[in-house]
Amino acid sequence: MTVVPPGGMLGILGGGQLGRMAAMAAARLGYRVHVFTPEADAPAADVAARATVADFADTDALDAFAAAVDAVTLEWENVPVAAIERLAGRVPVRPGAGVLAVTQDRIAEKAFAGRLGLGTAPWRGAATAAEAAAAVAELGTPCILKTTRLGYDGRGQARVRTGDDMAAAWARIGAPDRAIVEGVVDCACEVSVVLARGIDGAVAAYPAVENRHRDQILSETRAPADVPPATAAAADGAARALAEALGVVGILAVEFFVTRDGGVLVNEMAPRPHNSGHWTLDACPASQFEQQVRSACGLPLGDPTPFAGAVMRNLLGHDADRWADHLADPGARLHLYGKREARPGRKMGHVTHLLPLPPVGG
Ligand code: ATP
Ligand code: MG
Repeated sequence: MTVVPPGGMLGILGGGQLGRMAAMAAARLGYRVHVFTPEADAPAADVAARATVADFADTDALDAFAAAVDAVTLEWENVPVAAIERLAGRVPVRPGAGVLAVTQDRIAEKAFAGRLGLGTAPWRGAATAAEAAAAVAELGTPCILKTTRLGYDGRGQARVRTGDDMAAAWARIGAPDRAIVEGVVDCACEVSVVLARGIDGAVAAYPAVENRHRDQILSETRAPADVPPATAAAADGAARALAEALGVVGILAVEFFVTRDGGVLVNEMAPRPHNSGHWTLDACPASQFEQQVRSACGLPLGDPTPFAGAVMRNLLGHDADRWADHLADPGARLHLYGKREARPGRKMGHVTHLLPLPPVGG
């Protein structure tokens, strides 16, 4: 179990804002970062010592990257498993290929949660529009048809109501080889738990937070979640059980639906820092990005206990043009990702306000 001491070179797969914030956390601990990204103009590359712009299928580029870094982590969970396996033959990759194989596929993910006895939305797999129609008939409407792979921010999803044309819905999500049909959960709210797991199996979890979405994109996170203690404990326990069973080394973020009776259902998970964990940068001794660096480098985890509550709002598209207003607000902690183009719905930055922590036990 290799430990990479400060001074080493940490490889990050993916070049988005999550990689950017991880690179900044790595720099604070004295590491240098080498980003591997398929996209030029990557937000993470702007703050990294080195960047490789290449496809994840480019084996020469992967081999050169492996030779140049001491450990590898990732900020995008859809890095092809073959690329992870190739790198892992040469350098520690945290999290590993087995974790990604589960979390890259909504069906594998839900089946995994189910095997641990954790609840999910009712679901069925489908290989054709006709199979999806049969699944909807079984589950009842409304349902959501989702691609099993590569969805984010609600992309690759279609709501299906009684009488809807399933062939059209199937086409709308890109006519995939396989899809999942989920019953729509009547949820009281949505929460998530972000935790870190170290090479020694130690776990440091942040408290459950509440997430509000607009147009299926996360718009606001409130920390801690204003839910009954039993609900928060159930989410925490489920996230720990998933992390343990996956054997993840690194970050695991788990999204949950909170049912009307206060129970939790696993929605999805990601083995990387999560948008709903950005508040930890401003309200916790060790942020999710610092924990990612620590776990990837084999260091002991930091203290996740918040010293404040927080509300984090995403700046989507042209929201970020109002940076001057946020700078003028003494309570606002502004984070901008340096993206050149503000497309609608694109995550350009976020702003966090600290709040008093709720009384213990309340
Ligand atoms: P992201 O990458 O933003 O987390 P995603 O595209 O991977 O999202 P999901 O998390 O599956 O997709 O869905 C996005 C949002 O749509 C959920 O947070 C929730 O608000 C709503 N949603 C998805 N599936 C269901 C469901 N089965 N029942 C109720 N709401 C759902
Ligand atoms: Mg989600």
